[in-house]
Amino acid sequence: MPIDRTSSAPQGGAAVPPEEYARLQGRITQVSRLATIGEMAAGIAHEINQPLTAIANYARASEILLRKSEDGKADVLEALQEIEREARRAADIIRRLRDLVRGQPSERAPADLNGVVTEVAELLQGDARAHGVRLLFELGEAMPRVVVDRVQIQHVLLNLTRNALEALGEVPSAEREIVVRTAPAGAGEVELSVTDTGPGVAPRIAGRLFTPFVTTKPNGTGLGLVSSQTTVRAHDGTLGYRPNSPRGACFFLRLPARPA
Ligand code: ADP
Repeated sequence: MPIDRTSSAPQGGAAVPPEEYARLQGRITQVSRLATIGEMAAGIAHEINQPLTAIANYARASEILLRKSEDGKADVLEALQEIEREARRAADIIRRLRDLVRGQPSERAPADLNGVVTEVAELLQGDARAHGVRLLFELGEAMPRVVVDRVQIQHVLLNLTRNALEALGEVPSAEREIVVRTAPAGAGEVELSVTDTGPGVAPRIAGRLFTPFVTTKPNGTGLGLVSSQTTVRAHDGTLGYRPNSPRGACFFLRLPARPA
């Protein structure tokens, strides 16, 4: 009886037909997307695990302290404060991730960037005073207008200023200074920058500043710069970092100027 070989798999290096190639390409894209989500999920699990373990430990310690004595009030209070702090940290990680994944709805309108900055100036001054930091504004003249969701851009400015304030905690109070600056940036763009006189970005994370969960702070989330970058990119702009001279950090965002 003759053997039917027509259904056997082709041998050797036959060329992949275009439709099969397209299917494979699609599959590769899908797999790499899944890998990114997988990595992200592993990162989330790791990050959330730390504050949750701390919460459980402090809760257990409080329980033991309460059972043991009546005069251990200060210890219990301290443990309760830690529970609250760690729970807030876990909530903060979740909130920022949710914003990042969902993306906030945007209400954009033509605006004067200096006005956007001035609206939160008092808020920023209050924060700066509380940290013993001198905060200066240098707002450019005759600035072209931009099209922005002002609250979202203000949120980015607050994030960058908070980071600068935290960085300045490491230098003597007489040397703590932040300058919030606006200026035309050429190529039809305007720049908003936050410059501080802190220690500057740690070299070991300089190449990964905009990577989720990269933080040098014991209670940081490492999500502030990533979510700020997402916001700025959604405005067709860029968020960047350059070292400040002679010391410190400068974070800047560039936004397209509104066509006249
Ligand atoms: P977080 O503030 O939670 O750490 P961010 O994404 O806002 O998350 O910042 C990531 C890291 O970038 C910080 O932990 C810090 O090491 C570094 N960084 C950000 N802003 C500054 C700054 N102004 N000066 C020095 N380092 C900074």
